[in-house]
Amino acid sequence: MLTGNSLTLTQLFTALPAMLLGRRRHRAALRLALASLFGVAVERIRLFDSGRAAFAALLKLHDVQAGDDVLVPAFTCVVVPNQVPPSGARVRFVDIAAGGLNLDWLALDAAIRPATRVVVVPHNFGVACEVPTWLREKHRQVRFVDDAAHGFASQLDGQWLGTYHDGAFFSFEYSKNLTGGIGGLAILPAGASLPDADLPELRCADEWRLLATLLSHLLAARWPLAGRISMALARRVGLVYRSGDDEVLFGEPHPTRAMPLLSSVLVRRQLASLPTVLAHKQALVARYRSALATLPALRQWPADGETHWVRYPFALPHPVADKAALARRLSAASGLNIGVWFDDVIHPAGSFRHGYRAGQAPHGEALAATVLNLPVNIAIGVDAALERKLARLLAALQAELDA
Ligand SMILES: *Cc1c(COP(=O)(O)O)cnc(C)c1O
Repeated sequence: MLTGNSLTLTQLFTALPAMLLGRRRHRAALRLALASLFGVAVERIRLFDSGRAAFAALLKLHDVQAGDDVLVPAFTCVVVPNQVPPSGARVRFVDIAAGGLNLDWLALDAAIRPATRVVVVPHNFGVACEVPTWLREKHRQVRFVDDAAHGFASQLDGQWLGTYHDGAFFSFEYSKNLTGGIGGLAILPAGASLPDADLPELRCADEWRLLATLLSHLLAARWPLAGRISMALARRVGLVYRSGDDEVLFGEPHPTRAMPLLSSVLVRRQLASLPTVLAHKQALVARYRSALATLPALRQWPADGETHWVRYPFALPHPVADKAALARRLSAASGLNIGVWFDDVIHPAGSFRHGYRAGQAPHGEALAATVLNLPVNIAIGVDAALERKLARLLAALQAELDA
């Protein structure tokens, strides 16, 4: 999978000497930079080792307790519902809109009960949405928390995603908009504050694992062979960093830690180049959009021009039995890294279900069975090479549609 969407090798290498300045200084500087980007008080910016930890902190902030319900969209990553049971609250799934990526407000209205305390609002692939005022006023006991893990620096009507509901969480994991290797951000609601907790630090060995994994990802995005070799080497010496199997398979909550030093340096560097990165990605997506539009059977989604796409989604008209195999075929045919997010209503397929029963969320299931995506990565130029790859992709897709 092509990752490190906004990170350059130079930024990675020059981060190493900068790290000597120490974690406290770097984290403080990152909080200031984020507060200034989003135009919020620095007290509202909190850093963690992951998006899931940021979400767990927001559940605490909203005093979620036993007897409460937390509504989670049925098109999400397993680590989101995983954070709910430790509060004593219950996870309930709410379907996404028919043919859409995010929630249907009428369906959400119908799903909210007196016990509902928090609704996780998705912004899948980076497409920002806003809960209508009538819905917020009708359910004043409910806090709407943004899962903005796909949409760092997306905007809606001139507002930054994450600033206009009751708090938001973002992720800086390898595959997200900005890359810290791992890392998370919570934007607290206006006026809220969390006590300054001294979070446990990542072990030093893990910080090295993170670096080795990131390097392999960046190499793989540029030179597939070099990437495969360095990933294999890193695996050999036990230097690969990934989330725990217990979290994916058994729904275990995540132990919260501080944002790693390396991540805080890397994310701040990427903030400095954000306008150029966004312009490049938007040009790339515009090209994808018009290329895919030549096959009208494929579904695409309208979005505000200010969307920071994490990957660019499109859907086939019919469910495919083995989406992963299809993505591999399309990748091999085109030379573009075709992704499968999300491959199940609770991604990844085979992860803990949190009581989800098949058929409960038909729209989420239909999307998971048909959606594929294209990489939105600064390593991909908008050039003649891209045109050749897109031509091969379209031919391969046409053949699938004809089959
Ligand atoms: C990646 C992701 C998360 C979790 O982010 P982590 O930093 O990996 O904890 C949450 N929600 C969605 C939709 C994601 O894709």
